[in-house]
Amino acid sequence: MIDLRSDTVTKPSAGMREAMANAVVGDDVFGDDPSVNQLQNMAAKLLGKEAALMTPSGTMANLIAFLAQARHGDTVVLSKQAHPFQYEAANFAAFGGLMARTIDDRCGKFTATQLRQELVLIDDPHFSRTTLVSIENTTNRGGGAIYTAEEIAAIATVAQEFSLRLHCDGARIFNAAVTAQCDVRDLSAHCDTVCFCLSKGLGCPAGSILAGTHETIHRAIRLRKMLGGGMRQVGVLAAAGIYALENHRSDLAADHRRAAEFRTALESQGFEFTLPSPSNILYLRVADAFATAGSLAEHGIQVLPHALDEIRVVFHRDIDDAALEQVLSAFINIRKAG
Ligand SMILES: *Cc1c(COP(=O)(O)O)cnc(C)c1O
Repeated sequence: MIDLRSDTVTKPSAGMREAMANAVVGDDVFGDDPSVNQLQNMAAKLLGKEAALMTPSGTMANLIAFLAQARHGDTVVLSKQAHPFQYEAANFAAFGGLMARTIDDRCGKFTATQLRQELVLIDDPHFSRTTLVSIENTTNRGGGAIYTAEEIAAIATVAQEFSLRLHCDGARIFNAAVTAQCDVRDLSAHCDTVCFCLSKGLGCPAGSILAGTHETIHRAIRLRKMLGGGMRQVGVLAAAGIYALENHRSDLAADHRRAAEFRTALESQGFEFTLPSPSNILYLRVADAFATAGSLAEHGIQVLPHALDEIRVVFHRDIDDAALEQVLSAFINIRKAG
């Protein structure tokens, strides 16, 4: 099967498996795992932050970032499309006692002006204290839209004016840096905390990173323990992360190229895409999402029904040019049949 449901389906490459097999490990709950420490230092440096922490998942990294920077009864402002609001099982409400104030935008991205409009009445005692803003780069439900460094700087200026912390759910921040053609540090510079996933386009079997100040990461270590995310000889996973940052990061641009080729080829056949797709995530309008997914499965292609009339397709390192050709002919075939 050619699996286009998500970039989470990527399997560890041969080189990555070798790095994992040879990993030097220790007990990371004691802070003794050299591979984890190396990955955390490497990630902090890449993002230009004081410190970083490895977590089992992006969901846990986001939750820890929220819990570390907001208190029970506080409000976090985020897009209505944001992953923590849509896809994290209400964890910050359930475990953090946090309320969401959502901004209704189409691509999962809001502007500094939209943020300001949510904040004008902040001192009124009727309202919950707003203490945190969370942006997503790239946006998952927004078709992989990106925030540029300038857009983030403008949001950070508003956040600072109201003494709010700014978190970036950068699950795919390296994809964002590819599209923005900038150093990833330019995208993290204005955020207090940033997380990214090793387990998506970077191709690791598991793991995410949360980065921020020494003080925030110190709190984050305890929160990770509380949530059951303190792991022991986890250097086998950290070694995969180091390998991915050194060897797989540069391949993300090829995923974007294939996504663009896929779109151009299908648009010329009359397919309709519902959102712009500047990175590796695409949404297509179809008559019946489940029927389309079923027909494609008969051609050996897996896609994700996203709404009754919409499917999602994600390009990643396990889809090469030959697979892209196969995907294109399958889409064109089912079009002819149906
Ligand atoms: C995948 C994803 C997450 C969560 O990561 P998991 O490792 O699957 O828990 C968070 N935010 C965004 C934008 C994502 O795409």
